Amino acid sequence: MKNTGEDLEGELLTVIQSLKAHIRENLDFPKNLSHLCMRGEVPREGRIHSLSIMNLEEVREELGECRRCSLWQVRKNLVFGEGNSRARIVFVGEAPGGDEDIQGRPFVGRAGQLLTRIIVAMGMERKDVYICNILKCRPPGNRNPRPDEINTCEPFLVKQLRAIRPKIICALGTFAAHTLLKTDVPITVLRGRFHSYHGIPVMPTYHPAYLLRNPGAKKQVWEDVQKIMKAL
Ligand code: SF4
Repeated sequence: MKNTGEDLEGELLTVIQSLKAHIRENLDFPKNLSHLCMRGEVPREGRIHSLSIMNLEEVREELGECRRCSLWQVRKNLVFGEGNSRARIVFVGEAPGGDEDIQGRPFVGRAGQLLTRIIVAMGMERKDVYICNILKCRPPGNRNPRPDEINTCEPFLVKQLRAIRPKIICALGTFAAHTLLKTDVPITVLRGRFHSYHGIPVMPTYHPAYLLRNPGAKKQVWEDVQKIMKAL
């Protein structure tokens, strides 16, 4: 028996709805990522690009007044990140410091001012790039982030990167590099060459706060950012 137009329309709607449900389920990134990759459904390169769905405002809304880890108890302000939602480069630091905690903005203290100068030296302005941290709340006394805090907060960094879809990530300092690249190889070895974070090229370099203490390392950072500029 032939299907009527209404039958076909109904079947089509059912197929579309099940496809939407399938896509939504598989966009639960990165939990399902390895599963998807194993099935060859997601290209190895540009995986975040392929899976983009939420925009930054939606990610911020989902994060809300986050109490997912204990750092909410000691923060003054949550520091989500700021900059161009379509930035070609995202700078990822470790966590907010004292100035950032007070202002609710990333990289606004002395180290932040140095990062701004680096960005300008790259021929851009802060509004051209996106700046954020692995943790959105300041650890007390600027101590190192704990693994449980990183595990809890990192999914929001992944969602930010998925929303922005940058060409390059610049990991600022040991902690950002180690967290993004899941390694404990020293930053002195990691810096100066591109690695990969979910298919996005990552250039680790020294944290601006380190440069304030060790101005001699500025030359190496300049070499690293030149490689970024060339790649962009
Ligand atoms: S550090 Fe991240 S996970 Fe912890 S409370 Fe802040 S926003 Fe939430």
